[in-house]
Amino acid sequence: MHLDMRVTGTTKLTGLIGNPVEHTVSPVLHNSLFNVLGINGIYVPLKVPAGSLKDAVKGLKAAGFTGFNVTLPYKEEILEYMDEVSEEAKLLGTANTVKIADGRLYGFNTDADGFIRAFREQTGTSFEQKQVCLLGAGGTAKALAVKIAMEGAAKVSIINRTETKAIELATAVNKVLEKTGSSEKMAFAAPSGTAEALQILSSCGIIVNTTSVGMHPDTVSTPLQQDFVLQSKQIVYDVIYNPAQTKLLTDAKARGCKAVNGAGMLFYQGLKAFEIWMDKTVPEEISVGLSTEFLKYLEA
Ligand code: NAP
Repeated sequence: MHLDMRVTGTTKLTGLIGNPVEHTVSPVLHNSLFNVLGINGIYVPLKVPAGSLKDAVKGLKAAGFTGFNVTLPYKEEILEYMDEVSEEAKLLGTANTVKIADGRLYGFNTDADGFIRAFREQTGTSFEQKQVCLLGAGGTAKALAVKIAMEGAAKVSIINRTETKAIELATAVNKVLEKTGSSEKMAFAAPSGTAEALQILSSCGIIVNTTSVGMHPDTVSTPLQQDFVLQSKQIVYDVIYNPAQTKLLTDAKARGCKAVNGAGMLFYQGLKAFEIWMDKTVPEEISVGLSTEFLKYLEA
């Protein structure tokens, strides 16, 4: 009989809190990282019922967890329980990563960094001087819009079903840029399904979908309006990774566009969280090899 010696009294504890967590693929990534780096650690999904976040955080701290990820619906509320919050998480108003050190809780947001790294590697392009169209104005859009603007995009247009949310986000992006010394307004908003949105979509070099439209189980829907036809020179990035091929990406490929799903973003936001917890940079040869395997696993 085989004895499982992987978990010991000194195993570093990490995990994911959220509700639901049944669908998560993050344990595959983090436990593979522990394994390949020879670190005695474990990552477990922890479902936290509504109203129990404070108790859960207290419990993880008391139990000696090294850190944890935070997913829906707690990415904003978690900030209330942090001793310190990174500039990025403060700016975005959300955290997806918590590190516990010397009895203190530190909040970070690694989503935008993960997206930028994945986008750069998978499309071979940067945002510098590009006209970017962001579909959606929810939590993910917020993280990405600010980062894309800071990466030097010429213009970020936010198209959303609820126009007020798109306007709020565009205003927030312009405010952040103003603080960094830029005097020009570069973020704009438009309601989806309108002639204005159609005109913006036609003039964008990069289209990023941050809405949940097309996500499993609604795999037949696309966030693009019916009267818009993609052009082959446009790059389409969908943050959704389940399914690996959304209707948006299938349509984009059929039109000859470069089309990438959100699996790379998921990988790199997780890698960054792991590096924060373990206080180490994962060597490039390991991250490249693991990302190939992880992306294959998500495609399957
Ligand atoms: P969220 O805050 O709830 O925002 C959802 C957005 O989608 C809003 O802009 C909403 O528009 C729009 N939307 C939802 N249903 C719609 C519909 N039927 N028609 C038109 N617009 C609709 O969600 P989130 O946290 O940003 O997550 C969005 C997506 O990103 C999810 O699919 C999630 O899985 C994915 N994600 C991926 C990664 C990754 O690592 N790849 C990381 C984070 C999130 P309204 O404002 O009008 O409601």
